Amino acid sequence: MIEARGDGRVEEAVTARLHHDWSVVPGTERTVPVDALCVTHGFSPQLELPVAAGCRLRGGAFTDVDDDQRTSVPGVYAAGEITGIAGAPAARTEGLLAGWAAGGGDPGDRAAAALRRRRDRARAFAGRLAAAHPVGAAWPGWLRPDTIVCRCEETDYGTLLHAADGAAAAPRAPSGSVPARPRPLPGPRLRPHGRRTAPRPGGRRRSPPPARRPAHPARRAREPSS
Ligand SMILES: Cc1cc2nc3c(=O)[nH]c(=O)nc-3n(C[C@H](O)[C@H](O)[C@H](O)COP(=O)(O)OP(=O)(O)OC[C@H]3O[C@@H](n4cnc5c(N)ncnc54)[C@H](O)[C@@H]3O)c2cc1C
Repeated sequence: MIEARGDGRVEEAVTARLHHDWSVVPGTERTVPVDALCVTHGFSPQLELPVAAGCRLRGGAFTDVDDDQRTSVPGVYAAGEITGIAGAPAARTEGLLAGWAAGGGDPGDRAAAALRRRRDRARAFAGRLAAAHPVGAAWPGWLRPDTIVCRCEETDYGTLLHAADGAAAAPRAPSGSVPARPRPLPGPRLRPHGRRTAPRPGGRRRSPPPARRPAHPARRAREPSS
């Protein structure tokens, strides 16, 4: 599924066959009328609690923990999917280990060592699974300037590219002002630099980002193409 279109609600989905790198196989796009759409790839944990506790994150997506599930905040331990997606056995074992450490258990105890080994086996399996199903590097080729990237702000890809271009030249915030603290966004992120001339699905090249913010793509989908 490479595109969702609609006016206020989803009305059409565009599917396509993909190459190994997730670039679109030309000529395979198909537009399907839909009432609803469910799409997922991978998982993202809810990080509100570790973020609220001030725990350091790893890669912006998971809580950073040491070998005994200690976070960067003294006295705070983390276990399960907030430290990495590895399935129920890994989460349970991490919980046992965190409980052991939090309860003052001897870190050199054989029971703790066995828990660490069991956890590491489960994590290694999850790592292999994730490596077998990566997000293809060519997916940004699906984006157009009017593709909505953030629905909360209705920010489109063209605006994002403009912002990325202007970031270096942008004036600094006045001293004393407090910059907004963005909520960490887990999972793969857009990497707009160097992508703008990537060919669109079907081989056409993208037009440069528009000077003005384009209409919502849902509305544009209804406009006759020129
Ligand atoms: C559909 C589905 C099928 C799955 N099948 C398998 C399977 O076959 N085998 C397997 O190994 N794993 C499977 N899993 C994964 C497995 O469920 C998880 O790995 C496991 O539950 C992780 O445990 P956890 O304690 O880390 O997180 P969870 O079990 O998700 O527990 C986290 C808890 O924290 C609560 N919470 C979150 N944020 C807050 C907050 N801000 N304040 C208060 N509470 C909060 C949540 O409500 C939840 O109760 C599956 C998951 C899903 C969704």
